[in-house]
Amino acid sequence: MSESAAGDAHGVTGGAGPATGAAGRAGREIAPVAAGAGDGTRAVRAGLPEPAKYEPTLPGPVFAAHYHLPGEPTGPYTYGRDENPTWTLLERAVGELEAPGQGGAETLVFASGMAAISAVLFSQLRAGDVCVLPDDGYQALPLVRAQLEAYGIEVRTAPTGGDAQLDVLDGAKLLWIETPSNPGLDVCDIRRLAEAAHARGALVAVDNTLATPLGQRPLELGADFAVASGTKQLTGHGDILLGYVVGRGPEAMAAVRRWRKIVGAIPGPMEAWLAHRSIATLQMRVDRQSATALAVAEALRERPEVTGLRYPGLPDDPAHKIAARQMRRYGCVVSFTLPTRARADRFLDALRLVDDATSFGGVRSTAERRGRWGGDAVPEGFIRLSVGAEDREDLVADVLRALDASAA
Ligand SMILES: *Cc1c(COP(=O)(O)O)cnc(C)c1O
Repeated sequence: MSESAAGDAHGVTGGAGPATGAAGRAGREIAPVAAGAGDGTRAVRAGLPEPAKYEPTLPGPVFAAHYHLPGEPTGPYTYGRDENPTWTLLERAVGELEAPGQGGAETLVFASGMAAISAVLFSQLRAGDVCVLPDDGYQALPLVRAQLEAYGIEVRTAPTGGDAQLDVLDGAKLLWIETPSNPGLDVCDIRRLAEAAHARGALVAVDNTLATPLGQRPLELGADFAVASGTKQLTGHGDILLGYVVGRGPEAMAAVRRWRKIVGAIPGPMEAWLAHRSIATLQMRVDRQSATALAVAEALRERPEVTGLRYPGLPDDPAHKIAARQMRRYGCVVSFTLPTRARADRFLDALRLVDDATSFGGVRSTAERRGRWGGDAVPEGFIRLSVGAEDREDLVADVLRALDASAA
């Protein structure tokens, strides 16, 4: 497959580089967000085409399996598995958030976070390569590990806390970081790990799902790839699955693009459009949810039945020092442990404003007893609480009341 068939020879890259491609049916250029713009300004303007009379601000989803294509089959839009104008705008928007001002960065959107993660790992690694994964990361990583090993890739693991992955880097081709980790909320030093990995010739990918690009920007901290599930706080309404990869190496990203093409793990145009629409409120949601998460964590800290409380924004959290160096917002997830599984179940039952559900990052608070899935190394009473956009006083009161009600 030629580069041009891969689509990236047309300048329609999702990164913060020059936007020279058609940006929708009207062929509008994408307007870059001004350098130095604040996060709110960036979020509401990211990926919008230049204003055009009688055209909407954000063009609607383009539903197309194929495009009119007389003559030579050159892009930007040929076939719906390779390119879509709605993705182009979304990719540009994500690039504006993850890698503002980094002209060489490219963004690709995927059907889910796992599609994005798999695209990086399986496009970059070959039989005989060594890959380093966290042992306390997202619960599907052990499945990924087994698949990598089945393809002859050596996988080493280490915990996220204390930069423990440093000890197993020798000979690695790729270091995978998840910080803060889900669900344990440990944090590692991205810059330090990236420097160590690069010194050994390894690529570095960071799962940025929990932080969101408004919480941290892995590429600025030295990573080669920022990868995330857009299913969580990026889109924030608990109604779509989405993923993305932002990377700076043209060759590496061409391989990621090729992987998307051959696996076909592409987002639907409607999902892509909904995601772009949701990004406009990202700063409001992240600011509010982080502030409320801190208030909830502070309230939980006062309770004797709560142990193992983690929130990177708490000044006395073990991860706070590193988090404060590399994060600008600490996220919406608080985790803690109640004495028993029964107590945790009663607590979840007693909550009125918090749905017992998995996932996180939505405008409606959710919580779950993480041990029910069996995949994470957590105590039976471990709760992962995702703080939504409810009023802070209401949510704190609901959590405290449910703790009291579950005591019996
Ligand atoms: C949810 C999640 C994923 C997977 O994303 P999907 O969109 O569900 O495929 C990957 N990494 C982290 C940290 C997650 O929380």
